[in-house]
Amino acid sequence: MLLLPATSVLAGEAAIEPTDNGADVLQDTTVDADSRSSETSAAAEKLVEAVSAHEHLVPLADAVTTVEEDPAAPLQLLGKEIMPGTAHRLSWSATELFEGVPVSTPVLVVNGASPGPTLCLTAAVHGDELNGIEIVRRVMHEIAPSKLSGALIGVPIVNVQGFRRGSRYLPDRRDLNRYFPGNPNGSAAARIAYSLFNDVIAHCDALVDLHTGSFERSNLPQIRADLRNPDVVTLTQGFGSMVVLHSKPTVGTLRHAATLAEIPAVTVEAGGPSQLELAEVKHGVKGIETLLSTLGMVRKRRFWGDPEPVYYKSSWVRADNGGILLADVSLGSTVRKGDLLGTITDPMSNQRSELFSPYAGRIIGLARNQVVMPGFAAFHVGMQADDVTAQVGAANAAQKPSTGGYVDGMSE
Ligand SMILES: [Zn+2]
Repeated sequence: MLLLPATSVLAGEAAIEPTDNGADVLQDTTVDADSRSSETSAAAEKLVEAVSAHEHLVPLADAVTTVEEDPAAPLQLLGKEIMPGTAHRLSWSATELFEGVPVSTPVLVVNGASPGPTLCLTAAVHGDELNGIEIVRRVMHEIAPSKLSGALIGVPIVNVQGFRRGSRYLPDRRDLNRYFPGNPNGSAAARIAYSLFNDVIAHCDALVDLHTGSFERSNLPQIRADLRNPDVVTLTQGFGSMVVLHSKPTVGTLRHAATLAEIPAVTVEAGGPSQLELAEVKHGVKGIETLLSTLGMVRKRRFWGDPEPVYYKSSWVRADNGGILLADVSLGSTVRKGDLLGTITDPMSNQRSELFSPYAGRIIGLARNQVVMPGFAAFHVGMQADDVTAQVGAANAAQKPSTGGYVDGMSE
């Protein structure tokens, strides 16, 4: 099933999707919210209340790990033993190799001198998403093993084949992030997913999977999290002041598989594909370093003006006409209802149409200037919301399992 006819033509790539995708990953609400509430902590509290199946907020340490009373222990990973207080660069090769040539990718490990949780960072599951690679590098090389409690495992380039080709996909055009937790006897993608999941991810107490927008779209640094899961909610609160979007994970994503395996996981989106964007990289590093501090893994505190996460609901504004899209707003812009977002000009007829914001909110994602087809999702407007609570509550009531989803390549 080819789900991306328009964008794939423009991006020059097509995905082979596993099965049954249809549901929207994001909450594509059409509510006309004019919410500019700044009571973020209140919103977060209400949000926690909305997940009422669980009476209290899980303490962060408990959400991420069971209590460790023993002294720091050696970490067994990929056939190696990493002693406490040391850092190593290991190598992971998927069991299924292309062209019979082994393909390996580095796995960076810092085993702290003191006991604590094991946090894992993965990047470039989509090979063209570069910001996460640099985020992992910066975080890993900043950590002194002697000052770390617990362990940090970083896989900067999961999809090394895609990375080499500058492609989101594996060489067989499969999206690796639709095959977790994998299958040792399945397709190449399923085997690679299985190997990563069992050899590395299974050792994690919590996971942060780093992504960017896809197909020439860029995202304001943001956390995508299933806020129906209290452990995941708690994890989102560790990052400091970052935009948090409720997003039911698509079946087959690393985030979905890890959370099912009781490893709380979030996706961090920062910037767009195929570029290294320093501001986005720095924002991501700051968020993860804050998480390390909130998890009690490091003592250093990062300063945020407002330490609370900011919960958003969101909606995409789509192009109604095809043509050349030029944006009038930038990432992070605040918009009012009715503000001009951008124009689309038909290069043949010179007919121009304008896209206006149906909501008051903030631009949390947008398409880079490009040629678009009608229906192309161009501007992602986030509405800071108390309403997130209602949204999560509704999702809870429905209890509908996510059967997968692929929104014009906007999902992780
Ligand atoms: Zn991605």
